[in-house]
Order: sequence, then C-alpha cells, then structure tokens
Amino acid sequence: MSAARYDLPEPDAFTRPYWEAAARGRLLIRRCGSCGRAHHYPREFCPHCWSEEVTWEEASGRAVLYTWSTVHRNDLPPFGDRTPYVAAVVDLAEGPRMMTQVVDCAGRDLRAGLPLRVTFAESKPVFRPED
Ligand SMILES: [Zn+2]
Repeated sequence: MSAARYDLPEPDAFTRPYWEAAARGRLLIRRCGSCGRAHHYPREFCPHCWSEEVTWEEASGRAVLYTWSTVHRNDLPPFGDRTPYVAAVVDLAEGPRMMTQVVDCAGRDLRAGLPLRVTFAESKPVFRPED
C-alpha cells in the first residue's frame, strides 16, 4: 500500500487538457472571448465578466516573481521529503497570477519582479529564473 500523496493532480474532464499539455511541457491558460482577459487556474467561466466564452490558450511561459515563501516544514507527503522549497506566486506575462514553485534559485537571489520562465517538474508547471 502506498502512502497518500497530495502533490499529484486529479484531472477531471474539464482540467484534463491542462494536465495533458503540462505533461508535454506546455502551460495552458484560459482566455475570455468576451472581455479578452486571461485567467488561471482554469475555470469554466471567466472570473472577470462571467462569460462562458472561454477557451484554452498556450501561455508564453514568461512570468515575474510576485511573492514567495521558503517552506521548511510540510507534513503532507511527499512534501516533507522536499523541504525546503520555494512556494511562490508569479504574475504570468499574459496577466494571470499563479501559485507555483520556484526552482533552481538560491533563496537569497529571489526578489520581487525577478524574470522567470516555466519549466516542468513531474508534469507540473514550476518556474526558474530566466537565463
Ligand atoms: Zn471575461
């Protein structure tokens, strides 16, 4: 019997395209055909104007760091084995704000506005500093 894991997505019919794209190294966002704004995480309605005219779009993968926190303790498996890690909120170039992790960066090098680029860890989108 394997221990429960809290880090793996459980795709439903609606979010499956998002996770399938992530498994292929692509980050998808949702774009509203009514007001033109993008959002993330994926929702079936536009959170800005409530239109249902929302479609998938591939994001550029560019973002800047908004805020972050170095996590030293997390009792939910498997995170306990991964501490410390950097939990972060980033602003995607397309506008949406996204909860994620920052990898490949020493904590002292993190700063608000740091340019980031998406990468994928176990088919999940995370971000690393842009070269
Ligand atoms: Zn809208």
